[in-house]
Amino acid sequence: MDTHVLIIGGGIAGLSLAWRLAAAVPVVLVEAEQSLAYHTSSRSARQMQPSYGPAPIQELTHRSIARVEQISASLPSPILMPRPMMTLGTVAQVQALVDTHTSLTALDHAQTMRRSPDLRPAGFEAAALDETAREVDVPALLDFYRREAVAAGAVVLTGHPVSAAEATGAGFSVTAGGQMITARIVVNAAGAWADDVAEIVGARRRGLTPYRRSVAIVATAAPVDPAGPMVEPADESFYYRPDAGHLLISPCESVRAEPGDAQVVEAEIAELIHRIEAVTALGITGVVRAWTGLRTQPADGLPVVGFDAEVPNFFWLAGQGGYGIQTSAALATLAAQLVTGNLPEQDEPLAAALSPQRAGLN
Ligand SMILES: Cc1cc2nc3c(=O)[nH]c(=O)nc-3n(C[C@H](O)[C@H](O)[C@H](O)COP(=O)(O)OP(=O)(O)OC[C@H]3O[C@@H](n4cnc5c(N)ncnc54)[C@H](O)[C@@H]3O)c2cc1C
Repeated sequence: MDTHVLIIGGGIAGLSLAWRLAAAVPVVLVEAEQSLAYHTSSRSARQMQPSYGPAPIQELTHRSIARVEQISASLPSPILMPRPMMTLGTVAQVQALVDTHTSLTALDHAQTMRRSPDLRPAGFEAAALDETAREVDVPALLDFYRREAVAAGAVVLTGHPVSAAEATGAGFSVTAGGQMITARIVVNAAGAWADDVAEIVGARRRGLTPYRRSVAIVATAAPVDPAGPMVEPADESFYYRPDAGHLLISPCESVRAEPGDAQVVEAEIAELIHRIEAVTALGITGVVRAWTGLRTQPADGLPVVGFDAEVPNFFWLAGQGGYGIQTSAALATLAAQLVTGNLPEQDEPLAAALSPQRAGLN
């Protein structure tokens, strides 16, 4: 099989790039697992939060929300819904947040209780509210990216792990699931395995490190307001939000891990439930299900996106950490513009901030 662009990895990074590229050039995407988005992309909290992350992430998130609003409007049922983000803290903590993020509004204690009546009044002084935050139907977004890519001619192959690659004069010859694929450009969208894939292709690792994080869905004694906000303390030590009649909770752990099928540590969920019970009076009655995924990022916490200067025609789209859902549409657009050599001049600083050649990457 021969193609112009071979994308390695069928998570949200690879699928979104296939969506943006397939109309312009022939694309083949290979995924190691038997199903797409088996790893981190199906294990997120499904949030898009404009005030979350460093400046380049906030910019990409604003752009992505605007784009996913358009996508949502084109589908039979919406895939984006309001899910305000409420950060609890002292008056000083809230003021500091509001001073640095234009999308946040300060709420005093009484306003916070009115906005989220199931809070225990003693647990906080005030809150910062981001009404622009969104919850996204990730399976529907992934399906949109896949469908559009395939409709434009992309070939998507599951059960095709890339095990070897050789540079040829005109690109690469890649072995994936026993099949030989030749490609002019190879894209590394391999999530937690991105540094391993770089080694296969003969590129230098960039210090992309997976950190595990868990989420649980729990039942509650009192009914959960479906329009309630996502709630977290100012130190970001946990969060919870309504989820289809239940509560979605996370201990926000960030524990270094190896690439793999990350598993839940049940004791951590039990301990988290105690912490959340101290904040809300909803009354958690049991765990419905729980999962763990890997958030992969380099030392400076920014994605690694762009051509590798040392290995011609090898392109990175990795290191999205905890932001891969909320940046996917804009990051895929930027990556597609870099791959096809059509980056608008005004986005050159943004691309430089994400470059695999930037200072500070291993
Ligand atoms: C608990 C949790 C909550 C999160 N919440 C949010 C959130 O609310 N909002 C947000 O924006 N982000 C969130 N994230 C982060 C987000 O999920 C990730 O940034 C994103 O899913 C990463 O996507 P990816 O495509 O890079 O990785 P993946 O989804 O892991 O995809 C990479 C794929 O590459 C494949 N692969 C690897 N090696 C090979 C090979 N050799 N050959 C072929 N295929 C290969 C893998 O099998 C995998 O399917 C969360 C993450 C976790 C764990």
